[in-house]
Amino acid sequence: MSPLIRLNDFKRQWQVIGPEVLRAVERVGAGGKYVLSGEVEAFELRLAESFGVAHAIGVASGLDALEISLRALGLRAGDRVLTTPLSAFATTLAVLRAGGVPEFVDVDENGLMDLELAERRLAEARGAIRFVLPVHLFGHCLDLGKLESLARACGARWVEDCAQSILASHEGRGGEGERLAGSVGAMAATSFYPTKNLGALGDGGAILTHDAELARTARRLRDYGQSEKYRHELVGMNSRLDELQAAILSASFPRLRAWTDRRRKIADRYRAGIVHAKLRIVARPAGSRSVEHLFPVLVTQGELRPGFIGHLTNCGVQTGIHYPILIPEQPALEGRGAVAGGFPRAKEFSEREVSLPIHPFLTDTEVEQIVSACNDWGG
Ligand SMILES: *Cc1c(COP(=O)(O)O)cnc(C)c1O
Repeated sequence: MSPLIRLNDFKRQWQVIGPEVLRAVERVGAGGKYVLSGEVEAFELRLAESFGVAHAIGVASGLDALEISLRALGLRAGDRVLTTPLSAFATTLAVLRAGGVPEFVDVDENGLMDLELAERRLAEARGAIRFVLPVHLFGHCLDLGKLESLARACGARWVEDCAQSILASHEGRGGEGERLAGSVGAMAATSFYPTKNLGALGDGGAILTHDAELARTARRLRDYGQSEKYRHELVGMNSRLDELQAAILSASFPRLRAWTDRRRKIADRYRAGIVHAKLRIVARPAGSRSVEHLFPVLVTQGELRPGFIGHLTNCGVQTGIHYPILIPEQPALEGRGAVAGGFPRAKEFSEREVSLPIHPFLTDTEVEQIVSACNDWGG
């Protein structure tokens, strides 16, 4: 039997980036500066440029990037934050850690926060919901024009979760022009967890903003709340991106565009090639220039999912589920005001979604194997 086709293939990635990463490690080790120095600064500049924002702030994780963003925007204990029930748990965990109270609106047919429902909820709340935390899930970009006009109209502050959407953009409407995910909210956060499109050799994250004052607060919050050495203006945290991870990320960064193109090619092939009466391929939302972080398909009924996963496993294809438990239904949220139920579309994803491998190190042969494995499923 042919070897397993993995959901992520870090060994192949290492074959590509290993020599450059080792040079980066050598440079940092020999340079003797390991925390908040030139490597982080250089990486932050690169990142800000690629997101089309004025400031990027490297932090220890995507979770921290979200928490610090909310805190920098002035979230106070008990503030309500509107977010999505279908995401990595970290999205909501950041709200809880910052002292906020998460509220959820259902997703649209593509699995992303339904902005129409969000609009209605914000109107009903009459200004009582102070923050909105949408996620550019699966590498798709939410409608940024819509997001921007909603943000203007509702008065809440928006933090975009870009952990899965680095370089994703939206083509815009009516001469608005193409804009990047992360460039529209008051702040945005991304992650360099190893499985992300740009992954570190460990944890890392970043905050993005146009606003110099917010950037300054975020820089303080990541570093014990210091404004200068030993002067603590804020109750901050230790959430610094290591020089080492920054150097490693800078080594991989030049490959990100090609990796993203490869992901897009594989997604195109799946969209054209996978045809099965009991599978629905989740569409790329209109106007989104997606970066295809994940490739979700839905089986037509939840009971079919174990069989489909088993069939792919037998064909040597590893799969994932994003996500099997809705955030409001997580045990950790019990007693925290989260309302379980009432999210029928998100529920459908949690019961019927299966993620196919889409990392850039798949060979064409493997992509064809995956297409055939899907099409050959008895259902
Ligand atoms: C990965 C992820 C996070 C959390 O990032 P970490 O770096 O693992 O803390 C947050 N939101 C989404 C949508 C993610 O995929």
